[in-house]
Amino acid sequence: MKFIGAHVSSSGGVENAPLNAQAIGAKAFALFTRNQRQWKSAPLTKKSISLFKERCEAFGYTAKQILPHDSYLINLGHPEEEGLKKSREAFLDEMQRCEQLGLDRLNFHPGSHLNKMSIEDCLTRIAESINWTLEQTTGVCAVLENTAGQGSNLGHTFEQLAYIIDKVEDKTRVGVCIDTAHTLAAGYEIRTVDGFTETFKKFDEIIGFSYLRGMHINDSKKELATRVDRHDSIGKGFMGLTTFELLMKDPRFDDIPLILETPDEAIWAEEIAALYAME
Ligand SMILES: [Zn+2]
Ligand SMILES: [Zn+2]
Repeated sequence: MKFIGAHVSSSGGVENAPLNAQAIGAKAFALFTRNQRQWKSAPLTKKSISLFKERCEAFGYTAKQILPHDSYLINLGHPEEEGLKKSREAFLDEMQRCEQLGLDRLNFHPGSHLNKMSIEDCLTRIAESINWTLEQTTGVCAVLENTAGQGSNLGHTFEQLAYIIDKVEDKTRVGVCIDTAHTLAAGYEIRTVDGFTETFKKFDEIIGFSYLRGMHINDSKKELATRVDRHDSIGKGFMGLTTFELLMKDPRFDDIPLILETPDEAIWAEEIAALYAME
């Protein structure tokens, strides 16, 4: 079964996210569990937590249909002591929020070397940050997102993601989220039947479908291998529709959250319906 949804607003409290998802006909959703642009956030209230759980149950959203996203400030591969410490503490807080909400995965961008350390050292540091966090939490999987490779952001090749996973001690609590727009911008041709087949064959060989815990379903405003991260609405960018049709018909993408992060939220309901029509 395909679980399609969008990254909905949790403004006014996390308990509003399932309402916002339900309103657009989503069978999955992503959310921020705290203000994504600030280092510190107030803890979740008991009322917020119980309402969130109540609404998820009422609308039929189970943990495998929900993909929380961490703050953009966090860099688990930060080259400097202070930035690394701040990032790890904030990430731990995010994991604990997921625990409180009964969620089982947290999606994040791996990290950036900021041109101050080697790629390998940065990837190792990211793995160490994951290990540090997993030791202090239970039940929540750290989900690495592939990136477009903009600036010094790592995680734009399957090899880099595999390198991190290899160094994570508890393999049952590490996974990946593949963003279609990032994949194209990073240089993987997924717009043709052959290209799609080849890319996901590589993905399976290098990382493995057993690690796939979610997808971001976005069109791209930027061309193949531009390494620029700009999402577009489905069918409006450089992706074309073949990628999405192939994905919708492919059972390897069943039973995980498939999340739109497309720019025009006014058409999310239409986009979801259009994707379901491709099944
Ligand atoms: Zn994404
Ligand atoms: Zn993006």
